[in-house]
Amino acid sequence: MGERRAAPGKVLRITSLANPIVKEIRGLALAKNRRASGRFVAEGLKLVADAADSGWPIRTLVHTAAIGEDDRVAGLAAKTRSRGGDIVVVSPAVLAKITRRDNPQTVIGVFDQKTAPLKAIRPKDDAVWVVLEQARDPGNLGTIVRTVDAVGGAGVILVGDTVDPFSIEAVRATMGSIFNVTLTRSREEEVLSWMAAWPGPIVGTHLAATIDYRRTDYRGPLLLVMGAEQAGLSPALADACRRLVKIPMAGRADSLNLAVATGVMLFEAARHRFPIDD
Ligand code: SAM
Repeated sequence: MGERRAAPGKVLRITSLANPIVKEIRGLALAKNRRASGRFVAEGLKLVADAADSGWPIRTLVHTAAIGEDDRVAGLAAKTRSRGGDIVVVSPAVLAKITRRDNPQTVIGVFDQKTAPLKAIRPKDDAVWVVLEQARDPGNLGTIVRTVDAVGGAGVILVGDTVDPFSIEAVRATMGSIFNVTLTRSREEEVLSWMAAWPGPIVGTHLAATIDYRRTDYRGPLLLVMGAEQAGLSPALADACRRLVKIPMAGRADSLNLAVATGVMLFEAARHRFPIDD
């Protein structure tokens, strides 16, 4: 049987700042509206084009008439419509209102949020997952998603009350990797019992650990467990790790920024898992 084609999306032209579609898209800057609608916004041609390339449907593409003349934007608009998404061509004033910036030269994509249930995660041998406890900073979360993507990791498991990965700041910091990395959100108790059945190494990072991060085994399906910016790893999650390691601090700094520490750990793990031939 052939694939069913979506009906082509509509093309709307909006110049009124009070238009309800403009209000709705602008409203996605607020967490409560993202929660209620299950949608989010990504800004910039690269991010939105990355989403389309990875098959993440664009519900609405917003751009000005001038930017629509760019071949890449026109191609993206054609792709969006053919997959059933709408195009909203707005005046520069409307785009400025949506983006909350003066004279933005950009496109906006509106997308459905996607997260995977924890129980759908299958431990594959070459997969790395970052387990992230209560991260608070959208820039850190976005950078971690981007870094997981950069090492070919599978995804990020968000534990407890983390910052929203679909906030504009977090999405921006992923630089498009949000469309290529699986995200899971779960309560701590759920993650703890799920971790107990994990068949590979579970390496936690802790400032009080005595094992140097370069001296542990990262091979097999790997969970890398990172603590919160202020509080660090909770005792319950630290207990669930099979190894706790520390990145030695040589100077006066007592810890690294969370995203930097995650990057150091992911690349160290990659070095052990995929050694290069001399
Ligand atoms: N005050 C917190 C504490 O006592 O853990 C500092 C948290 S640190 C800013 C945030 C997270 O980054 C930590 O929970 C840990 O996962 C990781 N991290 C930062 N520096 C680290 C280091 N030197 N060794 C191991 N993990 C580190």
